[in-house]
Parts: sequence; structure tokens; C-alpha cells
Amino acid sequence: MERLLEGLDPEQRAAVEAPRGPVCVLAGAGTGKTRTITHRIAYLVQRGHVAPGQVLAVTFTARAAGEMRTRLRALGVHGAQARTFHAAALRQLRYFWPRVVGGPHWELIDRNKLRLVAQAANRAGLSTESDSLRDLASEIEWAKASLVTPDAYPAAAGKAHRDTPAPAEQVVQVYRTYEQLKNDAQLLDFDDLLLHTAAALEEHGDVAEEFRDRYRCFVVDEYQDVTPLQQRVLDAWLGDRDDLTVVGDANQTIYSFAGASPMPLLNFNRRFPEATVVRLERDYRSTPQVVALANEVIKWARGRPAGARLRLIGQRPDGPAPKFTEFDDEPAEAAAVARRVKALLDEGVSASEIAILYRVNAQSEIFEQALAELGIPYQVRGGERFFQRAEVRQAMVALRQAAAQDPPGELPKVVREVLAPIGLTDDPPSGGAAREKWESLLALVELAEELVATVDGADLPKFVTELEVRAEAQHPPTVEGVTLASLHAAKGLEWDAVFLVGLVEGTLPILHADGDEAAVEEERRLLYVGVTRAREHLWLSWALARAAGGRRFRRRSRFLYGLIPDDHPASRTVAKREPVQKRPKPQCRVCGTQLVDATAVKLSRCGTCPSDLDEELLGRLRAWRAGRAKELKVPAYVVFTDSTLVA
Ligand code: ATP
Ligand code: MG
Repeated sequence: MERLLEGLDPEQRAAVEAPRGPVCVLAGAGTGKTRTITHRIAYLVQRGHVAPGQVLAVTFTARAAGEMRTRLRALGVHGAQARTFHAAALRQLRYFWPRVVGGPHWELIDRNKLRLVAQAANRAGLSTESDSLRDLASEIEWAKASLVTPDAYPAAAGKAHRDTPAPAEQVVQVYRTYEQLKNDAQLLDFDDLLLHTAAALEEHGDVAEEFRDRYRCFVVDEYQDVTPLQQRVLDAWLGDRDDLTVVGDANQTIYSFAGASPMPLLNFNRRFPEATVVRLERDYRSTPQVVALANEVIKWARGRPAGARLRLIGQRPDGPAPKFTEFDDEPAEAAAVARRVKALLDEGVSASEIAILYRVNAQSEIFEQALAELGIPYQVRGGERFFQRAEVRQAMVALRQAAAQDPPGELPKVVREVLAPIGLTDDPPSGGAAREKWESLLALVELAEELVATVDGADLPKFVTELEVRAEAQHPPTVEGVTLASLHAAKGLEWDAVFLVGLVEGTLPILHADGDEAAVEEERRLLYVGVTRAREHLWLSWALARAAGGRRFRRRSRFLYGLIPDDHPASRTVAKREPVQKRPKPQCRVCGTQLVDATAVKLSRCGTCPSDLDEELLGRLRAWRAGRAKELKVPAYVVFTDSTLVA
């Protein structure tokens, strides 16, 4: 028992030792929240307050859930459930399905989702171009995660100031048709897993009774990103009980665009007045230099609720100062980052302790190329790549079919047999595409081995479920190498060395956040999440042009103002404070009109020109206006009226 409490500070210890009942840990990044909850579970188990099988811990990514299971096992706890909300719901739903719905299990919708959205969009007379479909799909996801029905959508979208992808009535039409098509085809999307689980517990007394008898202790990590739908599931799990431990950091709310809200975390003790509430301030993850930068990033946040105003106090010995570097273009940035990674590897830092983090997955490609050129192994996390590969999709189909035939219990062997006809030969092909294909199939076998080692009674149906959840969470199997990940996918994780790349306006903050204060604040929190992933080395970089030798139309991110040290070359050219960037003659960046209005000056755009043109397009436009280019090619969504542009 003492061993469990060793290595915890007094506040962490108070949370671990709190009596059963509601507990809330409100604390900043790297203060040991995740560590505290795993220790609390182990403590309750060791004390005999709860059996491991009665614990259900939920978190937001499959990797975080996996890490929690590993940490629990290291603390001697076997058999506690640590899952994502979706994985937990999927498991429960499969079990209760015969009682609550009956008939064969409905399939998970998987990649067909966009096809159904396309059909629905088509019927509503909307564009079926892939970006529009993705926007519509995200909007439906937001509505479902926010417990908003099609009928309630227009009012709810208005209240939430949603930037709707089409007029609200048309979104309603698409939403309704999508639901209809999906139900007719007996398919479930990921939100349905949660909706059906909540409904099963709410409407079927016997199901609720059996479930609540089995699970008695609930733990939620990253609670600042809970959606109303997840909260409803959590409430259904709890019933009238209150054995719930939540931990979170409101400054790390990065999914509010998808319906998440930190309010259940911040209002926890209003809902449970008797709750033990603990605040942690000591940062055990990062050097004081990184901690100071993190504090500085979040200091500028606007509209923070009172409970979110936390400061971090660094505990580790001094380390190198965070490094800021400006590059002429992206290839130069990528090459420099790759060289720096190589130097770290040469110094003995392990590849798995290095991460390159970016705002959008599309940014990964150029860094992948640069790493590949230097022969540095890497893995892309959060990208769709792994599960989109043809051989992996083929493998999933084959595994699903095999699982339906219920083959006998040695999982890795069965997986090998199923994958053999697809290309998993005994000996690896010598190179090229065949070798790459073989490697991805082998990664699936390794995943099966991992499952056998970590889950009791792992069989093919369980493996298929695991793959489906990973595919949805975009969580490919772990490969030894430098991590490339989006800031969203990096939540909760840590590395010795972190590169935050592409810190330019239009990328961080993302273009569509411009002019929307709440959206810009979420972007700032993303930077905070990024900065706080680093234990020791932190590099922040940006490039002023996209292509090599291209025109430098980009500006460094507004979030960097005030962060760049005074003696840095880039700091001479910028004002020290965001966002007042004083210029003698402020002009619209598109048409060149002189600007007077304060908001227009801040955005560097007049009210008429569109704000969602990317930098490259702006460049082409300016060149054409100035007569340097003969013709102007623009995407179809840009419409010209005289000298004005309308997006
Ligand atoms: P995040 O908000 O990013 O999820 P967190 O609050 O969950 O962070 P943890 O991941 O639990 O933080 O801990 C951060 C790091 O600090 C881990 O490496 C953990 O092992 C270490 N740590 C936590 N508490 C202590 C402690 N009391 N003494 C030493 N190291 C600690
Ligand atoms: Mg954590």
C-alpha cells in the first residue's frame, strides 16, 4: 500500500485516498492527473473497496486507454476495464443487443458513412464534393454528440453560433435522410453506439440492473472534453450512484467544435456538493523553461471560466530554452526539422521519444518525406493512412468474415491464416510496395499478439472490434519510430523532444477560426496542448512560403507574439503584444483598400473580400491584379462580381 502512495505529492495523495464517492481533480497539463487516477484505482482495489472487474475507466483515445491498462497492470491491477467511451459502449451493446434490439448485430458503418451522406446530400440538392460531404458529416456528428435531433437542429445551431455547412433547413434534410438510410441498411455509426447504450440502460430496467451490479466504480480521464452524449452515457452507467472520479484541465478543451464542453468538469462540485475536489499545480513532466512558455501561452487566453485559471509550477531541473525558428519555405522547415531529429538520434535520444506535431494531418506529408530522405523511421498517428491502405481494408473485410464463422480461440495464428491469401507470406518480400504491404499485414498480427497479452479471452470477434475502434479513433498499431501526429491526437501524451511545426496564420489558428473569438481561443488551447507535450526539448517553427523559393505570403501565428524572446532575430520585426500589429497604412490583404475599421485592421481584410482564401490563392490573385500573371485559376467556389470577390 505504501508503495502505491510513494511517489505522489500530498494533493495527489488526497485524491488517491479520498473515500468512495465523487472525486474531481482539476489541474493543468503534466501535473499527474492520469497518474493519480490509475493510482486511485489500484488503491481502491488493494484496499478491497472494489474488485478490479467492477471498475470502468474511460478516456478519449485508444492509445490512452491502452496506456492506462499498462499502468494498471504495472500497479498489480488485472481485469479493470480501461476503454474509450466508444469501445466500452460497443462492448456493452454487443452483450445487451439480443435483449434490447434482437436479431443479428448491426454492422458498424465504417467507410460507408460518406457514401450515405453523399446520397442524402444529393437528395437535398447539395454538393457531393468530398470537402462538403466531410463538413456535413461533421455537422451531423456535432448534432448527435450534442443530443440535438433533426427537428431541433436549426434552433440549436443558431444558439451555438455554428457556421453551418449549408442552410440549416438543408442540413436538417441531410441529417434526416442519413439517419433513415443508415437505419434501413441496419448500420450503426459511432454516435449510435453511445445513443443505443444510453437508451438500453434508460429503457430496460433489467439491463440497467445487471450493468450496475457489474460496474460500481467509474473513472473519466480528460473530462474537460466530454460531450452531452457521453455525459448521458455516463449518467446512465451511474444511475443514482455517485462513485465517480473525474480528472481534467479546462485549458485543454480542444473538441468544443465537436460538442465537448468543460462545464461538467468545472461544475462538478455543484452537481456533487459532497465531492472531494483536488487541485494540482506542480508540473512533473516538463522543464521549467517549457512550463514557463506554457504559462505564457495560456495567460493570453480570453473568456476563461474562473476554474480554468491554473498556473503550472515546474518541478524538473532546468533544460534548454524552447527554440523558435523562422524559415523561408516549408521544404526548408521540414529539412531542418529532419536534420535536428537526426542529431537527437545521434545524441542517443530514442526515436519513440521524439514527436513532430502539427495542426492538420495534411501537414505531415512534407515532414514524412524529409524524414524518409534521411532514413529516419517514423509513424503517423491520427492520420487516416494506415486504416485506409488497400491491404488493411482488404484484411478488415477478410477478418470480419472469418470472425462471423467463429473460428477456434489461438488468435495470432488465425489472423496469420486469414491474412496469408492477402499477402502475408512467411518470408518478407525483398522491398518496394510488396514489402510495405507485408509490413502493414504483419502489424495486424502483432496487434493480435498484443491483444492476447493484454485482454482475457481475446478472440477473433474481439480483435475485429479492437480494429474497428482503432480505425475510428485513427489509432494505427505502434511502430518504433519518430511520431508524427496532429495536436488533437497528441492529447495526454508526452515525449522528450517535441517539434511544433507550421505555426503560421491560417494553420494555427486555422483559417476558418479567424474572426470567431471562441474558435481562436480553442486554437490557442491547441498550442498549449502542444507545448505541454514536451519533457525537455521544444522547437517551434514556421515557414513564410509553401513551396521552395515561393513568395512569402504567410505570417507567423499570432499566438507567437509575446513568446519569442527579445534577442531573437524574428522578434525585431514583430510587435511584442498580440494582437495589435501596428502598420502605418493598414491595407486589405486581398484588394489593397486602405482600412480604418479596427476589426478590419486586425484581420487585414476589408469587409467585402472573402476571408477563407488560402495564402497561395491570395498570392495568385495579387500577381494577377498587378499584371504579373496573365491568367487567374481559382477553385469553383470563388465567384467574381466586378472587382469584388465572393467566396
Ligand atoms: P495531461 O494533462 O497532459 O494529460 P497529466 O496531468 O495527466 O497530464 P501525467 O501524464 O499523469 O499528467 O503525468 C505527467 C508526467 O509526470 C508523467 O511522466 C508522470 O509519470 C509524472 N509524474 C506525475 N506525478 C508525479 C510525481 N508525484 N512525482 C514524479 N513524477 C510524477
Ligand atoms: Mg493525462
